[in-house]
Amino acid sequence: MTDTPFQYSADTLTQWDHHYLWHPFTPMRLWLEEKPLIIQRGEGVYLYDTEGRRYIDGISSLWCNIHGHNHPRINKAICTQVEKIAHSTLLGLSSQPSVELAKKLVDIAPAGLTRVFYSDAGATAVEIALKMAFQYWRNIGQSQRQQFIALRQSYHGDTIGSVSVGGIDIFHRIFGPLTFAAHFCDLPHPYRFEGSAQECRDHSLEQMRSLLQTYHKSIAAIIVEPLVQGAAGIIVHPQGFLDGVRKLADEFGVLLIIDEVATGFGRTGKMFACEHEDVAPDLMCLAKGITGGYLPLAATLASEKVFDAFLREPSAETTFYHGHTYTGNALACAAALGSLAVFEEEKTPAGLDVKIKLLNKRLNRMKPLRIVGDVRQCGMMAGIELVDNKDQKTSFDYTARIGAHLCQAMRQRGLILRPLGDVIVIMPPLVISTETLTELLDVIEDTLNAFIRAGATPDAARQLRLC
Ligand SMILES: *Cc1c(COP(=O)(O)O)cnc(C)c1O
Repeated sequence: MTDTPFQYSADTLTQWDHHYLWHPFTPMRLWLEEKPLIIQRGEGVYLYDTEGRRYIDGISSLWCNIHGHNHPRINKAICTQVEKIAHSTLLGLSSQPSVELAKKLVDIAPAGLTRVFYSDAGATAVEIALKMAFQYWRNIGQSQRQQFIALRQSYHGDTIGSVSVGGIDIFHRIFGPLTFAAHFCDLPHPYRFEGSAQECRDHSLEQMRSLLQTYHKSIAAIIVEPLVQGAAGIIVHPQGFLDGVRKLADEFGVLLIIDEVATGFGRTGKMFACEHEDVAPDLMCLAKGITGGYLPLAATLASEKVFDAFLREPSAETTFYHGHTYTGNALACAAALGSLAVFEEEKTPAGLDVKIKLLNKRLNRMKPLRIVGDVRQCGMMAGIELVDNKDQKTSFDYTARIGAHLCQAMRQRGLILRPLGDVIVIMPPLVISTETLTELLDVIEDTLNAFIRAGATPDAARQLRLC
């Protein structure tokens, strides 16, 4: 033990967490009032804390783990690589794992995406796609095309560019003065729309059409999350929406950026969500699941048409001057290659059908509960929206933090979840067994029932977390 830096007791770590760490997306005042859960190791779909307790990782460590923790195949890929070299730059040099991975990504990507540009987070993958789209038009002599169309309640990451095309008020409003303006279309959200799913889809597409009619000469690209808007609360788009967006982009001659950061790598039941509607984008953003949830890596894939516009003489200022120090990091690329090998060996996502159906069946069983307004699912991504008044679809007061309290209550029963407001998010590693998935869903259903029995009030939620 003494040759590792990790020799401190759980109590010391708790103190130091409270003294030295600033956690992402976390109201720190509340954080400091509670004992942090400190993870020490993982195995398959389980996380273990410093006190040896075991939890199901119900959110894939923030939506990125695919094949489980401590997977021998991916471990080996990283160990083999680290014995050779951990990192060398892609600025002016190339590297073995980054080349091999680029080839593999192009092989599995939707047709027409032929070039891979690496970075290290979903936000940077989006940032790069936006800058590429912007410069693409400049390079081909249409520099008036500088604007973007995005969807309301979209989430594309937290850098300033990706916040500019983000539409979640509570995250993005504060930074408004720092962002560039974008055009926003109504969210295609059947639960909150008066009318059928098709009418909801057509309403959003009509809005997009009218924006394009007015502004198309100054639009560089449309950016969307395909099929499902994750951070918005697992909002599943009506069927045909993505296809409709692709057709509009073609009709008005603008680029389409698809942000597969959350949906990519099997999460929706196919390798990439856009395959469900047979749509191929001009630019595609990948991150979260790309390394199986092991190391930070992202990629922006571009079509040859986009890439071609950057091929002129250097003096023509068509070079893409963007890069990060760790772009194409060898360890991260090796992990990604290891993860893709596991996809082949374990036949993911082909084997997900049974689990997707099980999840669907259990969501439908919870749907009649009086606090469940809506259940939504896209493959192995699901959300349960809790409501105060089911008939009127009214939310709980958000300051009561019902979703957070109920997820804390589930933690006592060995399940780690992180809600989005009052939407309980279910996003386990794809490798989860049907037995463990059943166990996970039992904990959720039991907790919701206990909350109802206790009166379904904010007080009841607070009490439950203390049990
Ligand atoms: C998580 C997410 C991002 C941001 O990725 P980071 O790696 O956290 O920067 C971007 N887009 C979508 C759709 C996401 O879900």
